[in-house]
Amino acid sequence: MYRTHNCNNLKRENLNESVTLSGWVQKTRNKGFIIWVDLRDRYGITQLVFDEERTPEEVFNKAKALNREFVIQVKGIVLERESKNSNINTGDVEVLVDELTILNKSNTPPFTIEDNTDGGEELRMQYRYLDIRRTPVKEKLIFRSKVSMAVRNYMTKEGFIEVETPYLIKSTPEGARDFVVPSRMNSGQFYALPQSPQTFKQLLMVGGLDKYFQIVKCFRDEDLRADRQPEFTQIDCEMTFVEQEDVLAQFEGLIKYLIKEIKGVEIEEFPRIKYEDAIKNYGNDKPDIRFGMIFSELNDLAQGKGFKVFDSQELVVGIAVPNAANFTRKEIDSLIDFVKRPQIGAKGLIWVKLNDDGSYKSSVDKFFNSSDLESWAKRTGANIGDLILILSGDAKTTRHQLSSLRMELAKKLGLRNPNEFAPVWITDFPLLEWDEETNRFHAMHHPFTAPKPEHIEILNKNPREVKANAYDLVINGNEVGGGSIRIHDGDLQAKIFDLLGLTFEEANTQFGFLMNAFKYGAPPHGGIAFGFDRLVAILCGEETIRDFIAFPKNNSGRDIMIEAPSYLDKLQLKELFLKTTEDKEN
Ligand code: ASP
Repeated sequence: MYRTHNCNNLKRENLNESVTLSGWVQKTRNKGFIIWVDLRDRYGITQLVFDEERTPEEVFNKAKALNREFVIQVKGIVLERESKNSNINTGDVEVLVDELTILNKSNTPPFTIEDNTDGGEELRMQYRYLDIRRTPVKEKLIFRSKVSMAVRNYMTKEGFIEVETPYLIKSTPEGARDFVVPSRMNSGQFYALPQSPQTFKQLLMVGGLDKYFQIVKCFRDEDLRADRQPEFTQIDCEMTFVEQEDVLAQFEGLIKYLIKEIKGVEIEEFPRIKYEDAIKNYGNDKPDIRFGMIFSELNDLAQGKGFKVFDSQELVVGIAVPNAANFTRKEIDSLIDFVKRPQIGAKGLIWVKLNDDGSYKSSVDKFFNSSDLESWAKRTGANIGDLILILSGDAKTTRHQLSSLRMELAKKLGLRNPNEFAPVWITDFPLLEWDEETNRFHAMHHPFTAPKPEHIEILNKNPREVKANAYDLVINGNEVGGGSIRIHDGDLQAKIFDLLGLTFEEANTQFGFLMNAFKYGAPPHGGIAFGFDRLVAILCGEETIRDFIAFPKNNSGRDIMIEAPSYLDKLQLKELFLKTTEDKEN
């Protein structure tokens, strides 16, 4: 038997017991006549003592050779510790060792296996198995497991069944590129890895399963943005005979349950914001509503006074920053620099301070008098001591810029409290989005999303105005989930494919299986999918998802531990009917 207890078990109650422990050497302190070893496993740390006088000589000698990360097994007696350590659960006791087996030696690890390590990110990814030994990383994986258990508990209790859908499929058009897998047995043909199980979960509803969920890997070959992974996990869900309200209620239930179970926090009913209002008031469709600074449009108050920067623009829009009138020149300059960065792209930033004495000071004093400024203050809701910041330009870009500035200010002012959860449903998305580049419509969510029934009439006449029964769940400014009521009528689905510029033949080749299924009594259905990695990170009060994934890819989509992706040898390529780089050159 390798162990009678783990390294977190032993307490005063165990005094004088003979015990066996196994684990890794966290550190050793050798005083010459006495050696202390911190023994670590997943559960904790226990102090071991080897004492020249009390430990058998050959055991004592063996202990001298112990080094960091050696795997050992010890037998010994639990004794009371002289200097207690209240930081660890076993801090009252230590084990006086009388038998020591070195189960495996270890090279000196490339970075310290401690809470604060000296290893850089790439190095830690290369030796991910060592990084996982560190408490902060290990805890995140344990946390993730807890959340997935809670998800399964809730979903099962609510009557959902977990069904696995295939990984080797045919492309699902959800905006991103597919990762593809060449088929050896079907020359020249490829599978695609699913971007999501969308069509399969709809087919399960046609199959009468009524309530489906799956915690499932999805794959998207997107250009990598910070904190995106090419493979990620979704909680994927679908229900039959539901309207939007039913889906929102069901999954508001799930998120409330998770926040309660995991964080012990009760959340009231989630607010709802229509897509259009989110764009107007926050400049984007994933608003962080933990704080205010809601956008106010100022065109009618600020234009026509001879200030060119405002006059000819589509939108003049501002926010009131609470208690920021005392920002120094330098602080304001750094905000100006922030909006002028190429990623944001604003030309400048107008500011107005509402001083404590009730006076105004602004960067546009030459053009506007204090009654103008007062009207802006009223509109933006700025009070004495606040700072108004204003941008102008074409509506879409300007909103985008102000939204970045709003988030930057929230960070600066400490308004993004990771222990506060502010979920919000975003509803009433447009069904279609016009793409200037390709000169055609794209489905804003995906092509299976149902238009609002009352908008079906105007699909032909005015497609841009058609709203969808689609919804996103946003928590603390992150899109955590999204879904929709689906089209279950073959004719309507055909019409949408047509609007999206798919010919009948194209639609048939890509989605014939779905269209066919719709001929056999497809029930009304709808669902949602949550980004599980992100949800877990948010529940843990963290921003990055990488540490919640056991073996993540780096920013270039590489696994630098196993060195993937990698080249295939010629024979393998040949079997797959693929050409090598050399073949292509010839
Ligand atoms: N399949 C969709 C997605 O991955 C979610 C859904 O509509 O249920 O975004």
